[in-house]
Amino acid sequence: MSSPYFSLQTQLKSIAKLINYDKFLKTILLEPERLVEVSLPLRRDSGVVQIFRGYRVQHNNIRGPYKGGLRFHPRVDLNEVKALAFWMTVKNAVVDVPFGGAKGGITVDPKTLSEAELEELTRVFTRRLFSLIGPDIDVPAPDVNTSAREMDWIADEYAKNLKLNTKDSKYSDAQLKAVVTGKSVDNNGSEGREEATGFGGGYVLLRIFERLGKRLQGKTVGIQGFGNVGSWATKFLRDKRFRIVAISDSRGGVYLESGIENIDEIQVRKADGESIKDIFAQSKSVERISPEAVLEVKVDIVIPAALEGVITRDNADKVRAKVVLELANGPTTPQADRILQERGVLVVPDILANTGGVAVSYFEWYQNLNKEKWSREDVLARLKEKMEKATDDVLQVADEFKVSLRKAAYILALKRIEEGWKKVRQL
Ligand code: NAD
Repeated sequence: MSSPYFSLQTQLKSIAKLINYDKFLKTILLEPERLVEVSLPLRRDSGVVQIFRGYRVQHNNIRGPYKGGLRFHPRVDLNEVKALAFWMTVKNAVVDVPFGGAKGGITVDPKTLSEAELEELTRVFTRRLFSLIGPDIDVPAPDVNTSAREMDWIADEYAKNLKLNTKDSKYSDAQLKAVVTGKSVDNNGSEGREEATGFGGGYVLLRIFERLGKRLQGKTVGIQGFGNVGSWATKFLRDKRFRIVAISDSRGGVYLESGIENIDEIQVRKADGESIKDIFAQSKSVERISPEAVLEVKVDIVIPAALEGVITRDNADKVRAKVVLELANGPTTPQADRILQERGVLVVPDILANTGGVAVSYFEWYQNLNKEKWSREDVLARLKEKMEKATDDVLQVADEFKVSLRKAAYILALKRIEEGWKKVRQL
């Protein structure tokens, strides 16, 4: 068996052994606390009723309310969501925000639905989860194929249902928006949330380069996945004078040794629904490559920022970068991870590199509950500080235990969860 969830359990067991972890707590963490599977009936624009499946997995809440994104994708299934929820528990501990871990999603290709259908599906999902979410219970956020638009629908549907159920809340209407993060800025979302994961990965990379005494400027970068995370990471690194030589999305990629220039325009056109293939259709200067080939081009840093399981034992030998910055969740399989390590490739693990989103999600939740509104500058300064602190903490553990950054991040997370557990047990 080699599902991501099984790999995570194996990883947890081996780290627990290494640090002589509490056996009871290890057993608790090996299984999610709650699995929710719901049926979502949707009347299509054609009049036909179709049933979709939705999931929410609440892995652990020792350190605070469950927290994690919602993914709308045809590949979503319970096993995938379980793994992603587990990662959230770990990630939230690594970046040290007061949340546990959860994840959810709907098995759907949102591109096949009209906007009205998508809104209704999101609202039905919210009604199904109504009693299981809330600012102090479980706080969803965006993930693959979801964004501020879906979060705004959820916040609205949650508030409506609360009124229908005449449940008194200790929170005002504005505070109740903390039921989800990643909302639009006009709807009590935080400044800086959209770019948070990509920028956060950038801060981590810069900090590691600084600590290892590596030069930054002119380093070449290839990025797989040019969605929210990938496009903002690209912009961040371009601004820090890295050279972006390859990018791809699900339909194709391009390579240009001298560097791809028009990153801002590509981001805008992608958001308008064009693919990288469409955008470069007329270009004579770029070399067209497959979505996967970006991982194998000659670059200093490669950034998987699409889906999990893309660096495997079949292509790990072909990765030519010296650094892999994992912005997607779980892009490297355990076998590939071993191969990369043996080859001396520095892997900056997802559970550190992509925690910028949840850090700013925490800022959004905090601002909502405390009726505050921080400027973008303020948010990004706090994000930088949080990411640098998490990076320093991971580097210190790596040094102390002489382990990879991935193992170090797991050790750090498990220790923080254990501290939280001891506090909870004293209550
Ligand atoms: P998104 O939907 O905005 O973008 C995903 C991008 O990946 C799209 O451009 C899509 O075309 C591309 N893609 C899909 N399959 C591909 C393939 N085979 N090859 C190349 N490109 C492909 O999603 P996102 O929010 O940017 O999330 C990307 C990854 O980052 C996911 O693994 C997600 O779990 C992770 N992540 C996201 C956040 C966040 O704040 N959004 C936070 C932490 C981790």
